Amino acid sequence: MIIVVSPDATQDEVARIIARIEESGRKAHISEGQERTIIGVIGSDPPELEDMFGSLPHVESVHRVTHPYKMVSRQFNPTDTVIDIGKGVTVGGSELAVMAGPCSIENEGHIVDTARAVQQAGANVLRGGAYKPRSSPYAFRGLGEEGLRCLAQASKETGMPVITELMTVRDVDVVAKHADVIQIGARNMQNFNLLDEVGALKKPVMLKRAMSGQIEEWLLAAEYILSAGNPNVILCERGIRTFETAYRNTFDVNAIPLVKELSHLPVIADPSHGTGKWGLVAPVARAGIAAGADGLMIEVHPHPEAALSDGAQSLTYESFTKMMLSVAGIAAAVGRTLSGVKATAAAR
Ligand code: PEP
Ligand code: MN
Repeated sequence: MIIVVSPDATQDEVARIIARIEESGRKAHISEGQERTIIGVIGSDPPELEDMFGSLPHVESVHRVTHPYKMVSRQFNPTDTVIDIGKGVTVGGSELAVMAGPCSIENEGHIVDTARAVQQAGANVLRGGAYKPRSSPYAFRGLGEEGLRCLAQASKETGMPVITELMTVRDVDVVAKHADVIQIGARNMQNFNLLDEVGALKKPVMLKRAMSGQIEEWLLAAEYILSAGNPNVILCERGIRTFETAYRNTFDVNAIPLVKELSHLPVIADPSHGTGKWGLVAPVARAGIAAGADGLMIEVHPHPEAALSDGAQSLTYESFTKMMLSVAGIAAAVGRTLSGVKATAAAR
């Protein structure tokens, strides 16, 4: 339920409304807008509650949240959420977040070198997997803790914040210790125990859409994390599985403007997993930004043909640099900035 407070209410009067919400056994979530204060009521919302809160002094109106997800919905929080992931980077503001790096961390030299190259091209977040969900148990499944150590070294040498995947509740402490953003992969979007676990942290979480996850299921998965106490959730559209076999997944560009309309959370586009083909990554990245994404996740490898995972969708340093210059043009057209690219272009 959403309570819109009258613009003339004093702080004490707002505090009295909050006290009444808390007395009813519910929690209050305050959004201070420019003109209005909006209070989200967290907990069950039977119809009689609407009359009860609606009759309180200085309550202008009361609205029931019509979606099954509440804290995630834009009704609940009308302003865009901007998440500070640390090391000077935010996700969801006018500056785009570009998370780039290899699918898997292969050794220290590999991740440090890739970090430098993507940073040079204008990326502001380093990605790299240490725990890899692979279709085959015989495929390379990541370096584990040693990979996290290499990632931390690359972060130290470049100053970039890092994102890496957490696959199981068992590894939550070690991943949280090294990551600036914890990635929950597509295969774990509805691993509700894992969602509860990252909900108990304050560390930012990027929740990827499952390969057959509906928008409502995805937003309800995000609701698990917010309702457990962690408001720092970033969504990531990474393509869905359809009848089409000409590419790995079908990047669902529709999802971006729809999720921006339904939710206040930032959304990242991942055209690498969304297409599975490196030649499609740059055009689909541009489409994602044009559609309103708050940033990108892109797989980059110094020698894609030799990559231990996802080589076919990985960009070389050169093709990534070229992609960033073209994305900067689209960013400018939709009122977003990519300041790292401006610096690269100016240095040329
Ligand atoms: C990844 O980012 O390397 C990955 C495994 O992504 P997804 O969960 O989207 O398949
Ligand atoms: Mn990958």
